[in-house]
Amino acid sequence: MDLKELYREVILDHNRSPRNFGRLDPADATAAGRNPLCGDVLDITLRMQGDRLTDLRFEGQGCAISMASASLMSEAVKGRRRDEIERLYGEVHALLTGRESVGERELGKLAALGGVVQFPARVKCASLCWHTLHAALADAKAPVSTE
Ligand code: ZN
Repeated sequence: MDLKELYREVILDHNRSPRNFGRLDPADATAAGRNPLCGDVLDITLRMQGDRLTDLRFEGQGCAISMASASLMSEAVKGRRRDEIERLYGEVHALLTGRESVGERELGKLAALGGVVQFPARVKCASLCWHTLHAALADAKAPVSTE
């Protein structure tokens, strides 16, 4: 299995059985994301303990890329500190826009999203969950909506 095939498998797998799907109640912060270009919608709820994101769930509907990206993100950020998540956010953004080659070891499974660089219309699908998480973290004290 070559790398491209492996990445395709990761996306398909996470779309078929998304990790951390659902909603936390109560939650320390929530945010809603929307990608009108594709019709992807996403709600993120999370719990914080001090500076650490202890739990996160997402729910929504959208294309395979948007759902797989949210699932992969949920696994990658759980248990991490806010500053670690922001750094990861920057690296994923660089990966998706092809502006920078990012170490695959550092990104782990998230590197599977690198293929969307070839499909500019899909970049918004893959980055929607990260923008939504960013919005939730920005105001983690009070529930917010980006509607
Ligand atoms: Zn999409």
